Amino acid sequence: MKIFKVGDSQRAICEHCGSIQPATFKLRDVPLSDGSGVVKKVLVGVCDECDQVCLLPHQSVPAVQKHLEAQRKAVECRLPAHMLDILGLAAFELGGSSDFVPGLVKYYVHKLAHDPGEASRLPLLLESELAQGKAEKRLSLKGRRIADDIGQLKAAAHVENTTDLMKSIILLINEDVLMERRPRSIQNLKEIFAAVA
Ligand SMILES: [Zn+2]
Repeated sequence: MKIFKVGDSQRAICEHCGSIQPATFKLRDVPLSDGSGVVKKVLVGVCDECDQVCLLPHQSVPAVQKHLEAQRKAVECRLPAHMLDILGLAAFELGGSSDFVPGLVKYYVHKLAHDPGEASRLPLLLESELAQGKAEKRLSLKGRRIADDIGQLKAAAHVENTTDLMKSIILLINEDVLMERRPRSIQNLKEIFAAVA
């Protein structure tokens, strides 16, 4: 892969001119084609003829990618307060602080999304008395994969509503971690938490 510096030039196809033109690499603020924002000071090839951006070199892809990821919206839902308490207690039980809560939930979402057998147990958990309560607290999950994983898990578990899905996952975490129905998965989690702490 060739790394370009500011001021280097290369011939490129310019869509604006509709022809091959010499382009000079410059730092420009580049608006994204989907209108979702502007990536600041990214190295691009600028057509010498029409002064439009005509080339995105490979080395600039990570900067654009990072921008797109940062723009991705968090998955949020409102939950009864005791649900957040379960997550806080579970994180504590596993050797982490409340900082681990989003990671713990994302771990479960990802794991269950790829385990349809286990995911099919989720709707039953919603019948628990613990699934009730006024939604007064907010859970926010950010990340590259979370939205996709949630979509996949909804299909696997036959749970349409994001809040219901989160409730059922939290109740599963309650069973696994706080009621310790599954010592082996707890051991795995403890190891993961210890590694990232
Ligand atoms: Zn041009």
